[in-house]
Amino acid sequence: MAKTIIVTGTPGVGKTVLARLLAKQTGFQFLNLGELVKKERLYSRFDGLRQSYVIDERRLHKTLIDFFAARGEGGLVIETNWVGKFMPKKRGMIAIVVRLDPVVLASRLRGRRWPKRKIWENVEAELIDLSLYESLKRLGARRVYEIDATRKRPGQLLHEAMGLISARKGWNGIAASWLQRYDPIELSRKIL
Ligand code: ADP
Ligand code: MG
Repeated sequence: MAKTIIVTGTPGVGKTVLARLLAKQTGFQFLNLGELVKKERLYSRFDGLRQSYVIDERRLHKTLIDFFAARGEGGLVIETNWVGKFMPKKRGMIAIVVRLDPVVLASRLRGRRWPKRKIWENVEAELIDLSLYESLKRLGARRVYEIDATRKRPGQLLHEAMGLISARKGWNGIAASWLQRYDPIELSRKIL
């Protein structure tokens, strides 16, 4: 079985909830990359317009290499908004991309009291499959899995994730394709 499970996706889709359940189920250690970046100050600046930190990818990469080396062979569940070149590739590394209906996502992000602009930016990222695309680009289709979390309980998502991991088939190609359901212009008018 995979020893490094990346749980990725747009902010608000339910990564933390699923990643913690997966860590508990597998006995793997849980690592939240966003928290690591903040704690170790692995960012170059704060982007005021986007209301988010800009990751220093080179330093994050080095920190992760050291982290992997120091902890040896135990399993790991890593939560991250996206998979970039900062992620060292490891044997047995897979990514589960959590997807969520953009309208459901928008209402969750409104609950976080984020500015409209930041909500729209993330809804748009979900609409265009950004996290999925980045994961496929970095890891290749055989190491990437996709789960649509819309209207599913955390327990069911854990069950689906464990099923996909043990089947080891790789990306099933069922891209959530929100663009077939929603017109981005209409959606942006509702959110902005
Ligand atoms: P992320 O880590 O991707 O930003 P979280 O796990 O923090 O997302 O979840 C965002 C919000 O959605 C939280 O309020 C959480 O309780 C809720 N949530 C997460 N998973 C589900 C689910 N399967 N069904 C309903 N609500 C969920
Ligand atoms: Mg989270």
